[in-house]
Amino acid sequence: ASPEPPPLQAAAPVSAPVSAPVSAPVSAPVSAPVSAPAGKPEPPELFPQNREPASAITLPEGTMEDKLQYLRNLAQNWKPARELNSLRDTMVFATGNPHTKLMLIGEAPGYYEEVQQEPFVGRAGEKLNQILRAMGLSRDMVYISNIVKFRPSLPNQRTNNRAPTPEEIEACLPIIMHEIRVIQPKMIVALGGTAAVGLLGEQGSVSSMRGRFHDLNGIPVRVTYHPSYLLRSDSPREKRKVWEDMLAVMERLDMPISEKQRGYFLPRA
Ligand code: URA
Repeated sequence: ASPEPPPLQAAAPVSAPVSAPVSAPVSAPVSAPVSAPAGKPEPPELFPQNREPASAITLPEGTMEDKLQYLRNLAQNWKPARELNSLRDTMVFATGNPHTKLMLIGEAPGYYEEVQQEPFVGRAGEKLNQILRAMGLSRDMVYISNIVKFRPSLPNQRTNNRAPTPEEIEACLPIIMHEIRVIQPKMIVALGGTAAVGLLGEQGSVSSMRGRFHDLNGIPVRVTYHPSYLLRSDSPREKRKVWEDMLAVMERLDMPISEKQRGYFLPRA
């Protein structure tokens, strides 16, 4: 049995610059499912609803950090994404602590993330930091990643961003699915509809998908509004919706919750 992950705690960030050469075959076949030997049960599919099986990428032996470094290198030259020609060149991988119980997944890097090569460092990132602080957490206690690893491109693009297309999500999906496999979090928070639909492979709006736990191969997934939604709709009512999702996450992770925390963003009596 694998050991329990440690409690949510700070550790070395994983956003160190990429140095190791790319050694993985970047054009690894992603179609043929690998069957288990006769007599053994089939391994669980990592990809829901006919998504590619986890065996598409063979992770190296070694530590979690080694495996993430391998995925980071692989992502840089990930052919299915590069061949689309609709994503920019700078790869933005992930940040935070891989030895965590909690993984948060957004949609794609924007302008500031591309400049700093780190997810959620712009205004949406500040909002996310506030949410984490309200939970008693910080960025280096959780693992933060995106479903798409490159900033979606636009003609004459400056600081403007766009959401990734379904094709761009599909192309990048094997990378994030393998990050999940390496980290094995106890909980995933999908930040916004793009991440939720991409990860879960089911259609729906955030309002229809939030308020309950979904399942991704045994890992509970909580869907909530993207932090940038709160930048646009910053009413206590909308904040409370996100906060209720976070309270549910904290409860499920057995995190301590104070009375003060329970009452955040409730209308005053
Ligand atoms: N929005 C996202 O979904 N991801 C980021 O990294 C930044 C903004």
